[in-house]
Amino acid sequence: MSDGLPPLREVIALHNLAPKKSLGQNFLFDLNLTAKIARAAGAQGGGTFYEVGPGPGGLTRALLGEGADKVIAVERDVRCLPALEEIAAAYPGKLDVVSADALELDEASVLPPGVRIAANLPYNVGTAILIKWLTVEAWPPVWASLTLMFQKEVAQRITARAGSEHYGRLSVLAQWRCTAKTLFDVNPHAFVPPPSVTSSIVRLEPRHEPLAPCRLSDLEKITAASFGQRRKMLRQSLKPLGGEGLLEKAGIDPTARPEDLIIEQFAALARALS
Ligand code: SAM
Repeated sequence: MSDGLPPLREVIALHNLAPKKSLGQNFLFDLNLTAKIARAAGAQGGGTFYEVGPGPGGLTRALLGEGADKVIAVERDVRCLPALEEIAAAYPGKLDVVSADALELDEASVLPPGVRIAANLPYNVGTAILIKWLTVEAWPPVWASLTLMFQKEVAQRITARAGSEHYGRLSVLAQWRCTAKTLFDVNPHAFVPPPSVTSSIVRLEPRHEPLAPCRLSDLEKITAASFGQRRKMLRQSLKPLGGEGLLEKAGIDPTARPEDLIIEQFAALARALS
């Protein structure tokens, strides 16, 4: 696929985009890999995509090149804006760049329903951005899917099942509202500069209804207390929220540990709490 734009290495040199660690900047230059991520996000089917942190635009170009009708990209580093303007000129009317911090942005005002989110997220704020998307009030959310790069360890926490050492608050929150799976791993050497760990691409799709009914705020209280002391029995760690009485009400063995409980059981505890 040739978009007539200069290779990414040239873009970086031309616009003086020395990667900044403080902004989680690890850029992808491998066009086969960016195309693979864009296809995993569904770009070949057209539609609108939201990208957080386009940087010099490797993934942005892949999304547009693979067939996205529109990309809305939010970038915090103003140094990247001229490079992104060049991509917008090569794909007239198809790229909107928002100069903002994605954590602060009121996305409901810029995103159309059905938008798909695709991003090579900055490691330092990736989890916070995911939690922002998972904890919106209205469900199902405005977005139809998330195709996201994380450090492998974070991907394992998002997708872990009960009984796994990676199972925790993030697994329960993500899988209560979404289906979540790891699609493939990405070697550190695919990035410039290479991060110290392997990365993974994770795909999340919102469930029409959460896995079991309960209030999000109650579920968060229960999982925070439970996994805050993950080695302890729940009758101990849930003491401040009702201890054995609460567990009995939810029909759960008071000697269980948090990693033994499936998500429906955390939801039962959240309902018992309210
Ligand atoms: N998408 C590019 C790629 O794949 O090569 C760059 C990915 S790099 C890992 C993360 C990008 O997110 C950087 O361009 C960085 O400036 C941007 N970024 C960091 N924090 C951000 C924030 N809070 N809001 C928006 N963009 C942010």
